[in-house]
Amino acid sequence: MKLPLIYHPGYSPEFDANHRFPMEKFARLYDRLENIGLLRHCELFRPEPANEATIRLAHHPDYVTGYRDNQLSAKAMRRIGLPWSEGVMRRTFLAVGGSLLSTELALERGLAAHLAGGTHHAHYQEGSGFCIFNDLAICARHALTKPGIDRVLIIDTDVHQGDGTARILDNDPDILTVSFHCRQNFPARKAHSNWDFELDHQSGDQTYLNLVHRHIPYLLDITEPDLVLYDAGADVHQDDALGLLNLTDDGIYQRDVFILSECAYRNIPVSCVIGGGYMKDRKRLAEVHSIIHQAAFDVWREYYQR
Ligand SMILES: [Zn+2]
Repeated sequence: MKLPLIYHPGYSPEFDANHRFPMEKFARLYDRLENIGLLRHCELFRPEPANEATIRLAHHPDYVTGYRDNQLSAKAMRRIGLPWSEGVMRRTFLAVGGSLLSTELALERGLAAHLAGGTHHAHYQEGSGFCIFNDLAICARHALTKPGIDRVLIIDTDVHQGDGTARILDNDPDILTVSFHCRQNFPARKAHSNWDFELDHQSGDQTYLNLVHRHIPYLLDITEPDLVLYDAGADVHQDDALGLLNLTDDGIYQRDVFILSECAYRNIPVSCVIGGGYMKDRKRLAEVHSIIHQAAFDVWREYYQR
């Protein structure tokens, strides 16, 4: 069996190349994984768009149809920060479909990695910070509908707090949220995850890894999840335009391998999504995003390949 990777060419629709959100990065990430030879050792899956009933697990029905039909107010669209187009709308439904497929495959095989997702600033009734639908909240609630899945742990290492996820899931006793983020970064008004770990701006590899090493093992032990959703933040990187932290490629790789290994060692399935990532140099950005897929592949070979 091979490590499942999930991707759709529709993730990078036509889009303004000068926009702050690098829409082309998903296609660049796919190319990067092909160029480094990772794709041929993995099994590639192409998702269907998520259906609206599933998205409604975490969002108000009027918001879902309002976005689909481009009927949201100008103010609501400004808060999202992405212009509406058929392509971006289709990509939004596809990317949630990809995270759902990644969740299913993780439950089947132990580990799966999506080439998109991680839209953790989306709230129940509105989008925010380039996030429209909250794939983490949707996937967690969807997973709980399956037999044998009684508790889900979301580990979010995007440099920005997973505020939308925390607020949507505030009253879900069986979904626990953990966020490692930069204290001084967006959002200014933080939510309450079940566990929030705040780093000061300019924190580097050692400080960051110490925090992860200190907290992840006992969190997995006390929560005993049946599934982990892992948002692997690329915007903790020292060259990120919106990050404020100072991690290197190696620091991110060590973080990802550590978290995935701690789960694998305890036989906890993990679905990985990518988080953040706003470098101007798109080639470098694709390299940094690919670290989670490299890490997942290395952990797969160590624990799952047979
Ligand atoms: Zn972010």
